[in-house]
Amino acid sequence: LQTILDWADEVRLNADRGRVIGVRANADNPADAQLSKDNGASGIGLCRTEHMFLGERKQLIQNFILADDDAVKADAVEKLGAAQKGDFLEMFKAMDGMPVIVRLLDPPLHEFLEDPRDLDVEIAKEEAEGKDVSEKKALLAKLDSFQEANPMLGLRGCRLGLVYPELNVMQVKAIASATAELQKQGLNPKPEIMIPLVAFEEELALVREVVEENIKAVAEEYGVELDIPVGTMIEIPRAAITSEDIAKHADFFSFGTNDLTQMGLGFSRDDVEAAFMPLYLDKKICKTNPFATLDKGVAKLVKMGVEGGHAGNPDIVCGVCGETGGDPESIHMYYDLGLDYVSCSPYRVPIARLAAAQAKIEANGGAEKVAK
Ligand code: PEP
Ligand code: MG
Repeated sequence: LQTILDWADEVRLNADRGRVIGVRANADNPADAQLSKDNGASGIGLCRTEHMFLGERKQLIQNFILADDDAVKADAVEKLGAAQKGDFLEMFKAMDGMPVIVRLLDPPLHEFLEDPRDLDVEIAKEEAEGKDVSEKKALLAKLDSFQEANPMLGLRGCRLGLVYPELNVMQVKAIASATAELQKQGLNPKPEIMIPLVAFEEELALVREVVEENIKAVAEEYGVELDIPVGTMIEIPRAAITSEDIAKHADFFSFGTNDLTQMGLGFSRDDVEAAFMPLYLDKKICKTNPFATLDKGVAKLVKMGVEGGHAGNPDIVCGVCGETGGDPESIHMYYDLGLDYVSCSPYRVPIARLAAAQAKIEANGGAEKVAK
């Protein structure tokens, strides 16, 4: 297997033999980062930071969002920032010298909050026991106010950072200070900051301003130079369609086909399969599961996104980090669409390296031509 993968990399990465496409991994902890490297990834294409906010940290986000007292809010943000700095020190150390794209918090806010239904049950029980539940009722009202009928289309992605800039500031400072510290130790961390769920160039411009301001502040504090590219996910159809404008504010694009498929096809990424996908596959309305293999219509959105991206910023780097990024059939399409890299689960990196080499051979007229 190792010989085959070495051969695949020789084909895939040899610029004399045609365009080069990179293979990165989606990882958000040091163990997965190590596995990505062991499997031959050339960097992290997506570090989903929301996976770092579990347990006590989830509670700290709730404290920050719901507290009326500014001191409580500030304390929560400080603790979260320290924890995140620790996360990034480990991630960047594990991937020293390789790019690590860190995505700012993305999921709907209520995912970080206590479930009001649980609290409701608790209140009913305590009320029956004659306890004073007025504080819990006030908390319930606050939690209820964050419930949304369509959370995946609601207060999520860059909208979160626009409504609560403190969360972005906390994460950017943690990324920048971990980078500065490792640079001082003689290491070569290469973080990039990615802004999720952008639909409008104005959103990206506003968040980017906050990101750059805070990178600059940390660079001054540590007395180092920090060169941290800033880019965006392209995962809303509007972003793909208006990518020329969006690219003016981005150093890189990463296509998120999970959301792009959800919004492009109007299929819920969480519910669709059980509800009607078997029928759609049986009737050949969909030839394959569009969340797993790039759909023709979504491919057109990616094409528009890549072309507009290059028109808006000739130096833009374009990758994909949705589920389809690790699918061999989709990788062939991504090669043809001109993407610079695909990013997938660490376990799929070897198969992606192989598929990317095969795609290149095909695009260059077959095995004999490539071999010359
Ligand atoms: C995507 O939407 O394709 C993506 C990679 O982001 P997430 O799955 O975290 O929404
Ligand atoms: Mg997404």
